[in-house]
Amino acid sequence: MSAQGLTLQGMPPLALYVHLPWCVRKCPYCDFNSHPLHGELPAEAYVDALLADLDQQLPLVWGRVLHSIFFGGGTPSLFSGAQIERFLDGVRARMSLAPAAEITLEANPGTVEHDHFAAYRAAGVNRVSLGVQSFADAALQQLGRIHGGQEAITAIDRLRQAGFDNFNIDLMYGLPQQDVAAAVDDVQRALAFAPTHVSHYQLTLEPNTLFAHRPPPLPDEDIIASMQEACADHLQAAGLRQYEVSAWSQPQHECRHNLNYWRFGDYLAVGAGAHGKLTLPAEQAIVRYVRQPSPKRYLQAMQSGEWDQSRSCPDARTLVFEFFLNALRLRDGVDLALFQQRTGLAMNWLQQPLDEAQQRGLVWIDGDDLHITDLGWRFLNDLQAIFLPA
Ligand code: SF4
Repeated sequence: MSAQGLTLQGMPPLALYVHLPWCVRKCPYCDFNSHPLHGELPAEAYVDALLADLDQQLPLVWGRVLHSIFFGGGTPSLFSGAQIERFLDGVRARMSLAPAAEITLEANPGTVEHDHFAAYRAAGVNRVSLGVQSFADAALQQLGRIHGGQEAITAIDRLRQAGFDNFNIDLMYGLPQQDVAAAVDDVQRALAFAPTHVSHYQLTLEPNTLFAHRPPPLPDEDIIASMQEACADHLQAAGLRQYEVSAWSQPQHECRHNLNYWRFGDYLAVGAGAHGKLTLPAEQAIVRYVRQPSPKRYLQAMQSGEWDQSRSCPDARTLVFEFFLNALRLRDGVDLALFQQRTGLAMNWLQQPLDEAQQRGLVWIDGDDLHITDLGWRFLNDLQAIFLPA
C-alpha cells in the first residue's frame, strides 16, 4: 500500500492531451489557458518543445498504449497540417497507438481553410471539434468571436469536403439577450449538417474573465431552463443521445477521449498549462501535474528542464471526490467496480456518502451500478458535493 493508501491493480486506459495555447484574440468569457497571438506563431519551436516534453515523460508510461489524442487550446487550427503531422509522427515513433485510436483536433471556424482540413486528415486526425458557439452574427460578436455565422457554415462544409464524417459542433446557450427561439435555431442549424456529436453548454461567467468584470445582460434562469429543454427535444429528435451533462452524440460516437477523463482514466499532458494524471503502479500512486502555463516559460523549459508548475499526489479523500465529480457527469451513472479499479481505494470509503445520496433520493444502487435519479440529475452539484472531503 502507498503513502496515499492505495492498492492499485491494473492500469486504466491512457490518453494524450496536447495543449496549443495561442488564439487570434482572447474571447471575453474564456478562462482557458489561451493567449492572444502577438507576432508570428512559434510553431516549429513549439512542436520541438512538445516532443521534448513527451520524451521526458516516457519512462512513466513504458509499454502502455495510447487510446486517444486530443489537440485542445487555445486554437490548435492556427497550426498547419504539416506541423500537426510532425508532432503525430513523433508520437508514433515514441509510443504505441491503439488501432483506430481517436485523434481529435479543435478548430476555430475563423482559422480554417479547406487545405488545412485535408492536411490534418492526411496527418492522421480523424475527428474535428469545431468551436461554432452560435450561427447568429450578433451573438458571435458579443462573444468576441473572430468568425460570423456564414464562416461557421463554410467551415463545416469544408471539413466535410475534406472527408471528416466524425465531427463535433460546439454550441453555447444562455447568450446575452438570447431567447428560446434563437437558441433552438442554433441547434437546428447545427443538426442540418448531421454532426456525430454536439457539445451544448451554457455560457457561465467565470472568475478572471472580462465578462465577470463587466457582465453582459444574460437571460434569466427560467428562460435558460426552457432553452435547455427545447434544445434537448430537438437534439433527441435528431437521434442524438445525451451521454454527459453537455455532450450529445449519435450511437457509438461519444468522444472517447473525454469519456476517459470522466471514467478516471490516465492522461499524459504536453503543452503550456496542460493537466495530466498518471497511475504509477511501482509507487502505488496516482499523480497529477500541470505544465508551465506561460507559453514563453514552456518554450524555455527545453533548456531549463522546468516543465512542471505543480505536481501532487491527491490524498484518498480527494481521490474519492475527483472520481465522483467526473463520473457523476455521465447519464448512464457510475460503475462502482470502476471506483476500486481506478482509485485503488476500498469500497468502505463510499459507505457514508452513498448512504446519504440514497437517503436524499439522488441515486439508487443495483449491485455495482449506481444510477442517478431525476432529482439527482436536477441537483447534480448537490450530489457531487456529498463526496467532498469533510
Ligand atoms: S477561441 Fe476558444 S480558447 Fe481562444 S480565447 Fe476564445 S474561447 Fe478561449
